[in-house]
Amino acid sequence: MDFHYQSPWFIEALEKEKDLKVNELNLNLNCDVCIIGGGYTGLWTAIKIKEKKPQLNIILIEKDLCGSGASGRNGGCMIPQSTKFQGIRDVVGIEDAKKMVLSTEAAVKHIKDFCSENKINAEIRDDGVLYGATNIFHQGAFESLISDLNEHNINSWERLSKEKVQNLTKSSKFIDGYFSQTGGSLQPAVLVRGLKKLAENNGIKIFEKSTVISYNDKKEIYVKTKNGSVSCEKLVLAINAWTPNFLPFLSRSVVLVSSDMIITEPMQNELKNLGLNNGLVILDCNLFTHYSRTTPDGKIILGKGGNTLSFRNKVINSFDGPSTIEKFLKKSLVSFYPSLKKAKITTSWNGPSERTKTGFPFFGYHPKNKNISYAFGYSGNGVLTCHVGGEILSSMALEEQNEWTKSNFCKGPLKMFPPEPFRWLGAMIIRNAIRRKESDQEEGKDPKWFDKQLAKIAVSVGRVDFEKK
Ligand SMILES: Cc1cc2nc3c(=O)[nH]c(=O)nc-3n(C[C@H](O)[C@H](O)[C@H](O)COP(=O)(O)OP(=O)(O)OC[C@H]3O[C@@H](n4cnc5c(N)ncnc54)[C@H](O)[C@@H]3O)c2cc1C
Repeated sequence: MDFHYQSPWFIEALEKEKDLKVNELNLNLNCDVCIIGGGYTGLWTAIKIKEKKPQLNIILIEKDLCGSGASGRNGGCMIPQSTKFQGIRDVVGIEDAKKMVLSTEAAVKHIKDFCSENKINAEIRDDGVLYGATNIFHQGAFESLISDLNEHNINSWERLSKEKVQNLTKSSKFIDGYFSQTGGSLQPAVLVRGLKKLAENNGIKIFEKSTVISYNDKKEIYVKTKNGSVSCEKLVLAINAWTPNFLPFLSRSVVLVSSDMIITEPMQNELKNLGLNNGLVILDCNLFTHYSRTTPDGKIILGKGGNTLSFRNKVINSFDGPSTIEKFLKKSLVSFYPSLKKAKITTSWNGPSERTKTGFPFFGYHPKNKNISYAFGYSGNGVLTCHVGGEILSSMALEEQNEWTKSNFCKGPLKMFPPEPFRWLGAMIIRNAIRRKESDQEEGKDPKWFDKQLAKIAVSVGRVDFEKK
């Protein structure tokens, strides 16, 4: 079978499937609920609908293999939405923001329990999350956030001494930092392939290698692939980065930008010498955050968002290839861990990450047909949030009146970007300003005034500001 360039997680997960059978859609079928997209969002939605209404007939259609999108190639870093609390609150209000923080935090345990009950060996290690300051500008970065989270009794973060931060991260690059026990890491592709298998075992029909080429938004909903079709009562779109092309009314709701990653060869001894032996997720406080963690078999990964920006939000070919900043990422890794200078990078890859103007996802109904719902815009923070997304979309598809369907998260995009070419040009200018600013800060220099002003625009469009307030 042909595979695209894929992440090592996805290749590893497929290798573990002894009998990889691909079911293509080449019939004309009917069902109650049809879901397009076989990533975390589509699969959690399917599983939750089946849990709530076992009698419903559900079909899920995936253009490649389930997990071949972001869900099978992400960093596997479980990071709740608590760090975005202030930004979310300012847009949707306190109650909705609290709900999102608490639900994404609870998702750590839900996913862990779910995997253990269903024998999905997704290598879950809930050893927490640490954001560290690598320069004086980021010292004390979470004080205002923690004060706001405390005010609502939802704070899980604590500031650590420099010694403790360095002891946890094993990196002397960090001079300050904040730790939360709620989070950790997992093997992302094993999770998504495990969800696929479980969904099938629960009676959900899954078709892969079956691109949906059109749908009609009239009363009788009808979805077409090259060789088949599905008529359904309810349609759920869970196609992530491909949404702007499929639903043009959402084309201005995101900026598609790559997240790039590297992974080393297994280096058990080196990591043992360093003392890095758990699933802790380690991030710096840059706007384009470096994220890093080890794997149970002794590799280390490092990633960074904010590199390739696509014009017109197209899913361009380079998103399916190696990272164009592999050397830069290796340099970053060595800057955190100088002893890994000789570590061999076995693979680099990237993928499209959809950044909304608010910095958090939205859910909505098709403007012409309420029986069609969608989720979009996890903004680089989907491993836990997609679990919540599945709960939300299942509620929407089943017409449940609950705290999610009544929330501001289900009102579609709450803010839009300008049209092209201004979106792409603006994003490029701001990205480059952020790069210059962060590079100056790393050198201990006060960034230039205009770079700081341009970076502030990124903050106002939902990037988390980890600078002292
Ligand atoms: C490189 C990278 C690293 C990341 N790291 C992290 C991380 O460490 N932690 C974190 O929380 N988040 C991370 N994210 C974000 C996270 O991976 C995503 O938010 C999440 O996986 C989104 O899941 P999804 O199901 O919505 O989308 P996807 O997993 O992208 O699934 C969408 C699916 O729809 C299918 N599809 C598209 N069009 C069609 C069509 N026409 N017909 C049929 N099927 C179609 C696609 O093939 C795809 O499988 C990262 C993202 C990337 C790209």
